[in-house]
Amino acid sequence: MSLESTAISLIYCRQAKGLLEAFAGTIHELVRLHEEQFQAVIEGDVDSMRFDALIHMANECKQEAKYAYLHHLEIHCCSKYGSSSGG
Ligand SMILES: [Zn+2]
Repeated sequence: MSLESTAISLIYCRQAKGLLEAFAGTIHELVRLHEEQFQAVIEGDVDSMRFDALIHMANECKQEAKYAYLHHLEIHCCSKYGSSSGG
């Protein structure tokens, strides 16, 4: 039984998975910051510039994480979604 060779194509690349989770994490962080900013505005803290800086930083982290993930898919050819193309 050589299940291994079949399994390799089915198992999602661990590194890609890690990069995707990191990317998802940065999006989650952005959402959290927006929620905190929303709370601050509700509480009357409309002029909270600290959120603009934090959100800007979180956005840059998100972009980096996204490119790292896409770059990995490109060089490693391990895209989870790349196989089927209908139409
Ligand atoms: Zn990979």
